[in-house]
Amino acid sequence: MYEGAIQNLIDELGRLPGVGPKSAQRIAFHILSADPADVTRLATALRRVKELVRFCTVCFNVAETEQCRICRDTRRGVDVLCVVEEPKDVVAIERTGEFRGRYHVLGGAINPLEGIGPDNLRIRELMLRLGSGDVKELILATDPNTEGEATATYLALMVKPMGIAVSRLASGLPVGGDLEYADEITLGRAFEGRRSV
Ligand SMILES: [Zn+2]
Repeated sequence: MYEGAIQNLIDELGRLPGVGPKSAQRIAFHILSADPADVTRLATALRRVKELVRFCTVCFNVAETEQCRICRDTRRGVDVLCVVEEPKDVVAIERTGEFRGRYHVLGGAINPLEGIGPDNLRIRELMLRLGSGDVKELILATDPNTEGEATATYLALMVKPMGIAVSRLASGLPVGGDLEYADEITLGRAFEGRRSV
């Protein structure tokens, strides 16, 4: 529709999640008319996120050092481990202030329709962590939807024979939803009222 650089920018923006063609066009023209210093800052932020951010070697949360801020925090307990799908879920749970243990980020959920099985998630790494014997309780905080439930069931079956207490977040979370969209109070209550499985 447009030529050259502006169309290229619209196309790239349109590939981002949640950005439709109209939004892509609006953002592209906003950038075009923006102050050059603002655009440079945005471009730098995009480049730096790819250069600097990596995954924590312990829990697979996002980090800028070998271990993330939470894994480096010696005040946090090592006996309770909370399993989540994505780094954004760590942020959601941290906001509740209810949890002082550590995390394990799976990198998604079991989803046969999209060809995602246990081997595509960081389940092997989770089992290695549990094998150290430090963890006494595992909290399954995968999303309250079909894939999240399937993943929680799978993990419970694998972990319970190891003699580790396994719990799942209490109901009250919007079913079919995404953990990150739950408000702090609801998520905090779900955490407090977790039930063993
Ligand atoms: Zn970590």
